[in-house]
Amino acid sequence: MNWSKKYTQCRNCGTQRFPHKLFGYCTRCFHSVKRLEEVKLWNLDQPNTLKGYPRDINFHNPQTFERVKKGHLKQYKERLENIRYSEEKLQRSISGHDLEYKIREVAILSGVDGAKLFFGTADSFNRHFDAEQREVLYEKLNRITESVKWKGIDWNKLFFDK
Ligand SMILES: [Zn+2]
Repeated sequence: MNWSKKYTQCRNCGTQRFPHKLFGYCTRCFHSVKRLEEVKLWNLDQPNTLKGYPRDINFHNPQTFERVKKGHLKQYKERLENIRYSEEKLQRSISGHDLEYKIREVAILSGVDGAKLFFGTADSFNRHFDAEQREVLYEKLNRITESVKWKGIDWNKLFFDK
């Protein structure tokens, strides 16, 4: 059975777990793919290209424009890479380190210090769980992390990252 008319899986992340949205992309990837294409067309001298660009006059100078455009491209690409990476991870064998990292992520999402709570737990996951158990546990934890809605463009990061 085909995933979509033309594609067997998402063109970005390779998933079949999420439904097809448009143009060969799944429901999770499509938004970022679409935004990426729109942002690539942004041109300060052609206002009709500036879909989703801030209207505030302070943003309409070449320096700020470059920074905002670059930041948007980077963050949408990263988002697509992250989805792809987490999807690939589900196809591979899961190590104790993978589980430590994943449980830290869940803890951080709960608002607690995941790094502190679970630092060095990789060994324990390797000792107490065999390969299949690690896989099952990882898949369950991943359901939590992948259900968290992406917050979109991080403007702080955009302006204050190196
Ligand atoms: Zn996808």
